[in-house]
Amino acid sequence: MSGKVYIVGGGCGSYELLTLKAKEVLDICDCVIYDRLVDNSILQFCNEKAELVYLGKEHGNPELQDTIHKTILKYALQNKTVVRLKGGDPLVFGRGGEELDFLYDNNIKFEIVPGISSSIASCEYAGIPLTYRNISRSFHVFTAHAMSEYNHLDFATISKLEGTLIFLMGIANLEKIVNGLMENGKSKSSQASIVENACRPNQRVIVGTLENIVSLSKENKIKSPATIIVGDVVQFQNKFSWYDKMPLSGKSVLITRDKKRANILYNRLISLGAQCHSLPMIDIE
Ligand code: SAH
Repeated sequence: MSGKVYIVGGGCGSYELLTLKAKEVLDICDCVIYDRLVDNSILQFCNEKAELVYLGKEHGNPELQDTIHKTILKYALQNKTVVRLKGGDPLVFGRGGEELDFLYDNNIKFEIVPGISSSIASCEYAGIPLTYRNISRSFHVFTAHAMSEYNHLDFATISKLEGTLIFLMGIANLEKIVNGLMENGKSKSSQASIVENACRPNQRVIVGTLENIVSLSKENKIKSPATIIVGDVVQFQNKFSWYDKMPLSGKSVLITRDKKRANILYNRLISLGAQCHSLPMIDIE
């Protein structure tokens, strides 16, 4: 008999966007295998005895996927309850499908716990509605990863879409995306936005048009993780932005409290928009 594996979405940014189901399975599991985009604040919900295994893909590293599969299998065969915790939603890119294939082939029981994907959450934390009556009747999410190798985005078709376009893993290929769209008929004045570190206290949003978004991104030194959003709904960003208007937005707080008590303060400050760092200076026995 093997243990069960939960393929879990950790949501976007800090722990606040975690689902109750995800919190529940973190509380009962024996082992958590988590990736680079999982916010550390989520790990507070793992039960004390759970073994935490970090297997994040820093800048690619294609062999790591095999290690992830083997690690999941190792724990499952020890009859352990395993949480495979992934950023955003577990099956929106990030090779979640291959992990399911692997579990299926090895006859391991699994459950899938959906998560709030950065494709959606980044727009909403920036104040950009994905759809809006008479303005955008659909939204489309693309991966812009490894475009140079496969060049798999069909810009002739994509440029004809009327809805909101969202590109993940696209910062390295921003120029190619923008040129692909403009060369295939999207107007250079189409509205575009980039949301970096969405749903985190250090979130940054830039807004422009297809014509100037590349230079704006360079000027602001935008880095991954970030989403690229193209469409008329970007016009609402200025009006609907809210996350940068929280009482403690833009403030960094160092919490020196005893580790066991720091969480309460940490969580409250985060919910007011502050960026928190925990550095316990005392330990109360
Ligand atoms: N499964 C994830 C996506 C994995 S692909 C999800 O549903 O969100 C990784 C890409 O997601 C990144 O390159 C970036 O484009 C996007 N992403 C993930 N977290 C993000 C964040 N906090 N802010 C902005 N983009 C993010």
